[in-house]
Amino acid sequence: MKNISIAIHGGAGTILKSSMTPEKELAYKSALQKALDVGYAVLAQGGSAIDAVEKAVTELEDCPLFNAGKGSVFTAAGSHEMDASIMEGEHLNAGAVSIISGVKNPIQLARLVMDKSGHVFMAGKGAEDFAHQMNCQFENAAYFHDDFRYEQWQSVKNTDSFQLDHTDKKEQKFGTVGAVALDLNGNIAAATSTGGMTNKKFGRVGDSPMIGAGTYANNTTCAVSCTGSGEFFIRGVVAYDVSCLMEYKGLSLKEACQTVVKERLVKIGGDGGLIAIDNKGNISLEFNTEGMYRGQRNGNKLNEVAIYK
Ligand code: ASP
Repeated sequence: MKNISIAIHGGAGTILKSSMTPEKELAYKSALQKALDVGYAVLAQGGSAIDAVEKAVTELEDCPLFNAGKGSVFTAAGSHEMDASIMEGEHLNAGAVSIISGVKNPIQLARLVMDKSGHVFMAGKGAEDFAHQMNCQFENAAYFHDDFRYEQWQSVKNTDSFQLDHTDKKEQKFGTVGAVALDLNGNIAAATSTGGMTNKKFGRVGDSPMIGAGTYANNTTCAVSCTGSGEFFIRGVVAYDVSCLMEYKGLSLKEACQTVVKERLVKIGGDGGLIAIDNKGNISLEFNTEGMYRGQRNGNKLNEVAIYK
């Protein structure tokens, strides 16, 4: 059996079966399965983990159900400011972009930063200029407009509150997307992409584009992609913390993920979840919220998508 594996997420939060229609649930599950299959196909054809996570996240960015790429939430100014990052575990190469607008697929720009810029992290207008130079596809505001996200923004517009991808606090959910994968050569990689928080201002940046906080990959330990209240994930250096617990304390992938998500994050008040994979293809999908849109597939018949606890 081929030792290839991939896991994806489409955000965590208070996702209750009682507030979901069968149609909506089916739409989410098909979108997750499609992204999972796209990433898996790369691995099955002998492709690299970094290509697999980029392709899977691109697929999720193109789906308006998730808060990334098309479907990104609105900022206080009524625009879309997106963040993304990607990392490979063999040489610890990484690329990240933040506060970018108009770029159709922020994860592809993060990959170009990694491969072509000689830098790791680019933000704002400079990152957009680089995207033009790299001939990235740009889209106008109409492409990124989504009625549901617009309504979310209207309910908090002109207030000081900012929200994590839902108008109703009780049904808070985080629609960030991400993927982690292991390829045939034993290399692992992680990718994360988001529109951030509804009504965010002052150039707010979350954990998603931050290597070590929202995304991390190291062949000797694991690859991780996070979703949740970014401020806490930054303070907890969550993705790197999982890797550190494995490297320095000898914890298994599952033990490390559970310690971080169920204990350390909870201690500082952070809610959300993460997906992680180790170099043997073990997968851990941990969250301390009601649900997390997620999926996992390997060369050993595992193939499933799930939403609730
Ligand atoms: N972590 C993201 C942020 O804080 C939000 C999310 O996961 O949906 O920007």
